[in-house]
Amino acid sequence: MKLYYDNDADLSILKDKTVAVLGYGSQGHAHALNLHESGVSVVVGLRKGSKSWKKAESDGLEVLETADAAARADVVMVLLPDEKQQEIYESDIKPNLKSGNALVFAHGFNIHFNQIVPPENIGVFMVAPKGPGHLVRRVYTEGAGVPCLFAIHQDPDGNIRDLALAYAKGIGGTRAGVIETTFEEETETDLFGEQAVLCGGMTELVNTGFDVLVKAGYKPEIAYFECLHEMKLIVDLMYEGGIAGMYHSVSDTAEYGGMTSGPKVIDSGTRQRMEEILENIQSGKFARDWILENKAGRASLEALRRKHDRLPIEKIGGELRDMMSWIKK
Ligand code: NDP
Ligand code: MG
Ligand code: MG
Repeated sequence: MKLYYDNDADLSILKDKTVAVLGYGSQGHAHALNLHESGVSVVVGLRKGSKSWKKAESDGLEVLETADAAARADVVMVLLPDEKQQEIYESDIKPNLKSGNALVFAHGFNIHFNQIVPPENIGVFMVAPKGPGHLVRRVYTEGAGVPCLFAIHQDPDGNIRDLALAYAKGIGGTRAGVIETTFEEETETDLFGEQAVLCGGMTELVNTGFDVLVKAGYKPEIAYFECLHEMKLIVDLMYEGGIAGMYHSVSDTAEYGGMTSGPKVIDSGTRQRMEEILENIQSGKFARDWILENKAGRASLEALRRKHDRLPIEKIGGELRDMMSWIKK
């Protein structure tokens, strides 16, 4: 696998171009500020009067309404919420795209699942930092960068690879290393990761463990510390040293108990259900469900949020975290 660094990217490709960064949230503020400080001409596109508008202006950036920003730019980076991108694309972006322009994404959902189908004369690529926006910003100001993925979807003029690498350089990505992927691979692995492992899998693991301890008569405070609070410690160890690094740091008792009991919790049944989750992603079923869910006013998501709000682990967790002065509210 090839890694691309600063020397593989030429920022001067962006010299005579204007980049519109649409959205000024987690990713938007980081891309816009990093590009601006890398010497790229940036305009931020937002809806008038929004909170983000004021923030971008007070950060010293030029802000225009979304459609005007798209019209001004040669390169349009879409950092709006994924579920709003299609509508905003149709109303504000598409009418302002000119031949030779490029459309950029930080996540492949809308392109891969055909929600946005740009004209053939438009270059389409992705630059996706592998980290949250605040980290993309902070690490850049420290002179380093967050690793990025890039992918090419449409390359009508044969210059998109160079443009994508220049963009990645502008946000600091090539300081750390940039890897090529495809819209398909990024989208499907991102959805699988958040569903099966990171967000879905982990919360159920934590909550089920908590529940088993509480039902067995142990104090919920103790169960909370064991099953949720300590998760961060373990994840930090894995983040820094992999699974082996984590097992090296915990006690031999934890290592033996973990290695023997882990496969009883995550067994072949779990694997089979993970494979089903992946199939639903690959077939487009999950994408269709989520798109329809948004069209239905998020009825299911709101019901699920209410159900999660009522979980006992949330009540006890709220009380315990009040004791932790170091946790930001
Ligand atoms: P956020 O929700 O943090 O920010 C969205 C921005 O869009 C806000 O500035 C919001 O401003 C603006 N916005 C919302 N609605 C509209 C509208 N109708 N018209 C104009 N502007 C609008 O998004 P993220 O940064 O989290 O996500 C952006 C993209 O980056 C997504 O594709 C996501 O998948 C991807 N990504 C995100 C990562 C992350 O760390 N969060 C990591 C990697 C990729 P306001 O509401 O004030 O108007
Ligand atoms: Mg995601
Ligand atoms: Mg312990």
